[in-house]
Amino acid sequence: MFTIKGKTTDWELVIGLETHIEVLSNSKLFSGASADYNPSISPNTQVSMVDVAMPGMLPVLNEYCVEQAIRMGLGLNAEISRKSKFARKQYFYPDLPQGYQISQPPEEPPIVGRGWVEIMGDDGKPKKILIERAHLEQDAAKLKHDIHPTKSFVDFNRTSVALLEIVTYLDTKNPDNTSYISSPDEMERYLREIREIARALGVSKANMEEGSMRSDVNVSVRPVGSKEFRTRTETKNMVSFKFIKSAIEYEARRQIEIYESGGKVSQDTMHYNQEDGTTSVARKKEDALDYRYFPDPDLLPLEISEETIERIRSTMPELPAATRARYINLGLSEYDAARLTESTDISKWFDAAVGDKPERAKQIANWMISELFAHPENWDVKNAVDTSEQGTARIITPENLAELVDMISASEINGKQAKEIFIKMLDGESGTPKEIADRFGMKQITDTGAIEKAVDDVINANPSQVEQYKSGKVGLLGFFVGNVMKATGGKANPSVVNEILKQKLS
Ligand code: ADP
Ligand code: MG
Repeated sequence: MFTIKGKTTDWELVIGLETHIEVLSNSKLFSGASADYNPSISPNTQVSMVDVAMPGMLPVLNEYCVEQAIRMGLGLNAEISRKSKFARKQYFYPDLPQGYQISQPPEEPPIVGRGWVEIMGDDGKPKKILIERAHLEQDAAKLKHDIHPTKSFVDFNRTSVALLEIVTYLDTKNPDNTSYISSPDEMERYLREIREIARALGVSKANMEEGSMRSDVNVSVRPVGSKEFRTRTETKNMVSFKFIKSAIEYEARRQIEIYESGGKVSQDTMHYNQEDGTTSVARKKEDALDYRYFPDPDLLPLEISEETIERIRSTMPELPAATRARYINLGLSEYDAARLTESTDISKWFDAAVGDKPERAKQIANWMISELFAHPENWDVKNAVDTSEQGTARIITPENLAELVDMISASEINGKQAKEIFIKMLDGESGTPKEIADRFGMKQITDTGAIEKAVDDVINANPSQVEQYKSGKVGLLGFFVGNVMKATGGKANPSVVNEILKQKLS
């Protein structure tokens, strides 16, 4: 369990995320204007009358966005509400000229109800994170304060683009239920899982850098073993794993210090300061906004038929959780399966390398995880390309790794030689592993005659070690193996060497 040491006791973390993903769709949630608002498009060119609240204009719900929400809901193993409503969430700010945001009211069933996603917990085991709800709402405009010294500008291109807000569930009535995010690492794995599900389904790019995925982060702490949840704070609009982690850690420590000095945490909305990694109060609890949700009279209740849900269900692709289960069936550990499904690109690469030979799976996984993932700063794992400055941009293809692994299995090369070939490939050596092995004379010696001769030479050259071995110091076997390997230029098959040595020394 992830804990933070306090002065007198250890503390555990309770984290809840409200995550907005921008829904992929040609047009906006309530208008026919293009939903593409990328920065290269001129401001205020993708705007319909209803987006900017011209009098008499009526919103029309975009059916495709609804389907996207259902698709994501199914990906979150959630109940889809057959009936849900839209409401006006009142607030006045220039980024929404209506004076309200059309959303789904918190006190009524949203389009997506209770669900769960599975992540790898900090103990390396699968862990379910419960989802409370996901609802559709419209995005707001982008305000630009840095164009003019005294004026602010507003770009309505993003106004009314569909957002799906996914909220994690905390079972406050049952504090023993641990199906919530309880560490910064679990937060990251949860968001990555949401991202991969959204991408696999084509529901969202869910890209934090581009702003198509952002999170509000709720944090509270409690002494380890405590049977109740404590007051949480909420840090809004976080757009990078690094910042979210830092905000969680800072906020947890701040709360612990308050409790340890006898104070009380107030349920405030916090602002995260990127410059120094601290949080500060943005809005006191007393000043919380009253949104006065009320039903939007322009929009009928949304009814979804069982057929629609089933039609969408029948087109669902394999999602990361199912991929993991498939990998575990291939003999991989839960840990390996989790690592290889961190992104669809990685799992596709792995699947391509395994091809139709499941017996390769374990070795392919080992090579990917210990060699490619070991240097994430240098590696674009998706393409297995060296991206470091010194990098020579050699691409290792899934086929290359498969061939390498097959050569080991067929005893054509040993593990050490395979590693050398692998490194040569990374260094830009051209050709397939077989060609490289030929070019550098890296054939493994499995010919027992040649190995026997080397073994005899080593035994004859080390009579005293032979004596010691025979009188019980069997740990010396490694010494003999090492010498035989050296004598054969590292080319001998180690298991054959072992066998022959044991035979001759007994
Ligand atoms: P609101 O709608 O007022 O923001 P919710 O009750 O919907 O509040 O909760 C928002 C998020 O905060 C949810 O993800 C929930 O799991 C989380 N949350 C609620 N209580 C706590 C708590 N004591 N500690 C940490 N997170 C919490
Ligand atoms: Mg909230």
